[in-house]
Amino acid sequence: MSTQFFGHIIDNEEVESISGERFDVWNPWTQEVFAQAAEGGAEDAERAIASARKAFDEGPWPRMTHPERAAAIHKLADLMEERADELATLDSTNMAKPFAQAKHDVGRSVANFRFFADHQRDHTGEVYPMPSGHHTYSEFGPAGVVAAISPWNFPLMMATWKIAPAIAWGNTCIIKPSEDTPASVTLLGRLAVEAGFPPGVLNVLNGHGAPAGSTLTADDRVDRVTFTGSSVTGKAVMASASTHLAPVSLELGGKGANIVFDDADMDNAVYWAVEAIFRNSGQICLAGSRLYVQSGIYDEFMERFVAAAEALTIGDPFDPEVAFSSLASKKHFDKVSGYLEDVEEQGGTVLTGGVDEEGRWLVRPTILTDLPLDSRQYCEEIFGPVCVVNRFETEAEAIHLANDTRYGLNAMLFTENLSRAHRVSSHLRAGTVWVNCFFIRDLRTPFGGVGDSGVGREGGNFSREFFTEPKAVVMQIDRTVEGAS
Ligand code: NAD
Repeated sequence: MSTQFFGHIIDNEEVESISGERFDVWNPWTQEVFAQAAEGGAEDAERAIASARKAFDEGPWPRMTHPERAAAIHKLADLMEERADELATLDSTNMAKPFAQAKHDVGRSVANFRFFADHQRDHTGEVYPMPSGHHTYSEFGPAGVVAAISPWNFPLMMATWKIAPAIAWGNTCIIKPSEDTPASVTLLGRLAVEAGFPPGVLNVLNGHGAPAGSTLTADDRVDRVTFTGSSVTGKAVMASASTHLAPVSLELGGKGANIVFDDADMDNAVYWAVEAIFRNSGQICLAGSRLYVQSGIYDEFMERFVAAAEALTIGDPFDPEVAFSSLASKKHFDKVSGYLEDVEEQGGTVLTGGVDEEGRWLVRPTILTDLPLDSRQYCEEIFGPVCVVNRFETEAEAIHLANDTRYGLNAMLFTENLSRAHRVSSHLRAGTVWVNCFFIRDLRTPFGGVGDSGVGREGGNFSREFFTEPKAVVMQIDRTVEGAS
């Protein structure tokens, strides 16, 4: 029987839906319902928007000084650190993420809040003296009400990546977490109340994409829409927000290329190839799901890559030895395992892996080769622990293969040749390129994707641009300058 309930948090109150409807929240490892959440309807979304609107138009948050807002956000981050085990437990339970990885995500979520709290305090605008006897300065005022919509693969981390810059810059926010993972974000909303946030600054709306999410994006009281999820949903979100000209930031799917050159440090390349496709059971938008290995090292690399994939400890996400667990839901298990049904039919070879035989919602670390370049396994985002591997001969061929996709979120390359590292990085069509590493980020840099991987960039000043209304103020300083008045 379920014992926990995750309501909406609106105006600092945790509430049921107006309809009283709830939905089940699953633990995919035990295949049991462990909680229920409020099923947001259009009227709940409207209530959340009204709360955020009032907090923005009349409340103290947008009118606070930058250091005051920074202090409030750091207080929330302190509470998250105190309750880190609880937040991580909710994500591990709700999506079978190994607990150590969930703890790591909490650390990155805290870092999101601390970074944007300080960033808005320290980057308030620029002043330029003008030769005409004027000073001009830029001012970055809050944009208004932000609707943030997040996915289930990093439930807490992805939500905080949107909430943190939105509220830091003085906006009020409604976060709609994925219906598959409402738990940790609802706890975050409770912590914001405990931290003393004014009512309406951070509302949590639980529920499905439609009507909860789609009501938010379509409402003209919403000034910004920031979305992370699939490319298909991203297009619907953009169309909906365009009806009232709300700017959108879309962080969408990927099919990341990982290129390993003959001169790579083999130990390092194997280690990161495994992390890049099997961490979080492959449910990472940035996954290295297309692996290209140069022919001189192909046989040795593949032998070691397959051995490392088979050595991953699979099991209960709360077992500290476990690095790999089941997929996040039955629905997602059905989708990922569907891609494995016709591999041989398409001419492909399964080097290792496949669907679990014990009835768990689990796909083992899977490595495929020999697939045609137009097969669906090669072209589409599987979003699971499935790597498609190809051999290449030349640098030019590797760049061509890597760029031959509708996606462009990220790419990786492994080489000890510095000139090649720079040259190839600059030719790759991707928002992020990692050289000899993976998953490392500095929050000051742009994050986003090309093509079907997204619209816009967030991070540092890129987030400032999106979450504010920049303004130029020109002020006369010296009337004695010729032609000044
Ligand atoms: P999804 O698109 O199914 O859902 C994402 C969110 O959108 C959920 O909260 C969902 O309820 C909501 N939603 C669905 N329909 C909606 C609508 N019509 N209007 C408004 N909201 C709606 O994606 P998912 O399955 O939750 O997440 C997996 C996808 O997310 C993958 O494609 C993955 O690559 C992508 N992703 C991208 C990044 C990135 O930074 N680029 C990060 C994580 C995940």
